[in-house]
Amino acid sequence: MDLGIKGKRALVCAASKGLGKAAALALATEGVELFICARDEAALSATAEEIRSKTGASVAMLPCDLADFAQREKLIIQIQETYGGLDILVHNGGGPKPTKVEETSVAEWEKGFQDGFMSIVHLNQAFLPGMKAQQWGRIVAITSISVVEPIANLAVSNSIRAAVTGMLKTLSDEVASQNICINGVAPGVIHTDRTEGRIQHQIQQKGGTRQTYLDEYVQTIPAGRLGRPEECGDLIAFLCSEKASYITGSTFLVDGGKRRATY
Ligand code: NAD
Repeated sequence: MDLGIKGKRALVCAASKGLGKAAALALATEGVELFICARDEAALSATAEEIRSKTGASVAMLPCDLADFAQREKLIIQIQETYGGLDILVHNGGGPKPTKVEETSVAEWEKGFQDGFMSIVHLNQAFLPGMKAQQWGRIVAITSISVVEPIANLAVSNSIRAAVTGMLKTLSDEVASQNICINGVAPGVIHTDRTEGRIQHQIQQKGGTRQTYLDEYVQTIPAGRLGRPEECGDLIAFLCSEKASYITGSTFLVDGGKRRATY
């Protein structure tokens, strides 16, 4: 299917690996002109080169810590200079460290809000005026299954992602008539470096083998396996496309059936 977005300009945040990289690759395959960012310059550069060689797409990049206001400002200026604006914006980030609600300090709550919520507000405020002027835009935020089923010990992540989902739903109402669609993609358990890191952490904390924890994850997933990054990336590309012009204000799970609710 031709998604009808050849030549559109997209920023994919936190795209040097994992879900962000998969979204960037899926968009590049559709002929989108990409801008990608992440913290680590070497990893980002390698990803940009990999995407160029696989797709022939134009891929601009800037190392950026999205948690830092000044670095986001620099990113915004660089994108304006490179592409003159954006048609597509994919929000993604690292995610806060695990804590219990009662043990989370005020500083950790405030950091989580700045990193996970205000970074999205900031980039939206920079690029929405251009999308409105051209009467076309797509914004997708990578969140988590935790927006419908909070996950134990992820106090800040559960809370901030719920806040992001509420904020984006409100925004989607405000701009829907201008052909700007805003949605969330909520992964269950996808096999990325982050997931491998969680497994290694569990082995260190509780012992056991890698297979023990893979089996534990898979028991809760009707599909019987972890997700592949491209299974998220392909959905994101679709939601960013011309074909998704009547889909806005929703969150879509990519979880192999893990969520237990019917709706
Ligand atoms: P990953 O560790 O494989 O990749 C994370 C990417 O984010 C990397 O490119 C990293 O450089 C970048 N990054 C991290 N912090 C950043 C920052 N402050 N500024 C700029 N870039 C930054 O992780 P992933 O599995 O692809 O997860 C991406 C997001 O999706 C995370 O927020 C994660 O919590 C969420 N999520 C993932 C899963 C999963 O199963 N993988 C499930 C639910 C939610």
